[in-house]
Amino acid sequence: MKKLHRLLNRQLRKFDLDEETKVKMAPLLTLVNEAYYNFDHDLNHIENILERSSSELYEANKQLKNRVETISGQLTKIAGNINEVIFEVDRKGNWSYLNPAWEKLTGVMVEQTLGHPYHKFLQDEEGNPIKLLIDHDNKYGVFNKTIKCMTPLGVLKWLDITSKAVRAKNGRVEGFIGTIVDITNKKETELALIQAKEKATIANKAKDEFLSTMSHEIRTPLNAVIGVSHLLLMEDPKEEQLENLDALKYSSEHLLSLVNDILDFNKIASGSLDLEMADFSLDQILNGVQSIFTNKAKQKNITFVIRKHPNVPDLLLGDTTRLSQILTNLVNNGIKFTEKGGVVLEVSVEDDREEHTKIKFVVEDTGIGIPKKKKSQIFEPFAQAETHTTRKYGGTGLGLAITKQLLEIMGSDLKLKSEVDVGSIFSFSLIFKKSCSLPLVEDENAPAPESIESLSEMKILVVDDNRLNTMVVQKFLTRWDADFEIAENGLVALKMASSTCYDLILMDLQMPVMNGYEASRSIRDTHKSLNKDVPIYALSASTGANILTEIEEYGMDGLIHKPFNPKKLYSILYKVMKRKSVC
Ligand code: ADP
Repeated sequence: MKKLHRLLNRQLRKFDLDEETKVKMAPLLTLVNEAYYNFDHDLNHIENILERSSSELYEANKQLKNRVETISGQLTKIAGNINEVIFEVDRKGNWSYLNPAWEKLTGVMVEQTLGHPYHKFLQDEEGNPIKLLIDHDNKYGVFNKTIKCMTPLGVLKWLDITSKAVRAKNGRVEGFIGTIVDITNKKETELALIQAKEKATIANKAKDEFLSTMSHEIRTPLNAVIGVSHLLLMEDPKEEQLENLDALKYSSEHLLSLVNDILDFNKIASGSLDLEMADFSLDQILNGVQSIFTNKAKQKNITFVIRKHPNVPDLLLGDTTRLSQILTNLVNNGIKFTEKGGVVLEVSVEDDREEHTKIKFVVEDTGIGIPKKKKSQIFEPFAQAETHTTRKYGGTGLGLAITKQLLEIMGSDLKLKSEVDVGSIFSFSLIFKKSCSLPLVEDENAPAPESIESLSEMKILVVDDNRLNTMVVQKFLTRWDADFEIAENGLVALKMASSTCYDLILMDLQMPVMNGYEASRSIRDTHKSLNKDVPIYALSASTGANILTEIEEYGMDGLIHKPFNPKKLYSILYKVMKRKSVC
């Protein structure tokens, strides 16, 4: 048997066994002795493992401690160097942590702040403490606000404050953490921008008003010049006078189109140009273009042809004024810049659907052409291909800029192909809704003013404060045999309308004493008025964007722009006269 294990030996000694017993127990003692040695071995093994684990644990702990120290060092470094204030406030609202940015923001040391109520250091412009940083009832946890704040050193700052409640496991608020960001510079820039924008809006409004007043002021005398030149041309002038009168008429109309272009350009630039949506007849527009340019082309000894493909629908929905303006601009340029050959306006269908149709318009001329390097330039406002163009052909360089921008507003684009001394092709496509209704137009059956039917059945009241304008209208009305009376302002018109029955009132809008709007409303509203339902047409040089809505609101029936086209004025008078005779 192995030498007895020291612990077994100690146990046996306690019992003092005799030799005989020892012999009898020998097998058992051998087994127990073996178990003691095995236990010793296992214990040794476990001790070894424990020792290894403990040194590994020690190592890991050391690493963790290092890491915690590194991270906390990094956090302190970050918190110490960022410009934003990081804070912690305890449950009672006393500062419990602040990073060094606090000193930069307020000028107060962090140590002098900690432990004090937060609102002691944050005050509004009047010096009242700002008590909104902590909110025990805030269900959503996060609070964010921008406030104007007075720092303890008396400096006003814009602060962006974010705070969040820190809660215990049972939901009880233990304190608040958050950030304070100084956004003074950003806010001041923002406020300066808003102020600058407001100033720009006021300046823009003043510019719009100036342009609109100037346009009104220019149109009023132009009305007289154009009207008088029309009248003189109708009065069988002598051969030698004809040329001068033509020049007068051409120049005044040119001046008018210039004023219109500048106004349009300004409207587009300020985004205040609204497109009209009305039924129109494409044939009527093309006929209009044809009648304006056939003579012009003839005078230059060149041709002007409109080629409309048979499948192009006639009745459409869209802005007829703008479409006419675009076609007029392009054809006018074509004729202006062509010395031999001619101009063709081709209208075809590009895509046809049940409700819509896409129509392509091409204006092709055999004129001077446009050099390659000038092709993009000519669409800029006031730009002309060559400097001598103005001298030779006239023009302002606004037509194409307006045309291109109008087409952009209408969702299209103006394309150009051109070769010097060969010619130019301008083209664009527009999508129109098809229409079934005939457009409301001036009475087509109305005879041209030159071959007039007498308007002797008409009694007309002309309301205008401008003597020149009344003189021009007066001359036309006399020519057309109409009976008329003149009122120099709205109040006089109102008095006259309460005692005389008229068939039509032509009403200027801007007048002293009582303007045309007020006068029209009063005529409609006066119960005893004889002229409660008389057609009232505004005859005005105003070009305000809302003028059509306004005249409708004040009970007027329509608008005739000054300078007026005698044909348009006549056709309205004729229509009213015919309606009267039917009644
Ligand atoms: P304007 O004709 O009043 O000068 P536009 O904006 O209509 O202004 O045209 C700008 C310039 O583009 C013109 O001055 C001319 O140089 C050139 N241009 C326009 N249309 C044509 C054309 N059909 N043929 C040749 N040049 C043209």
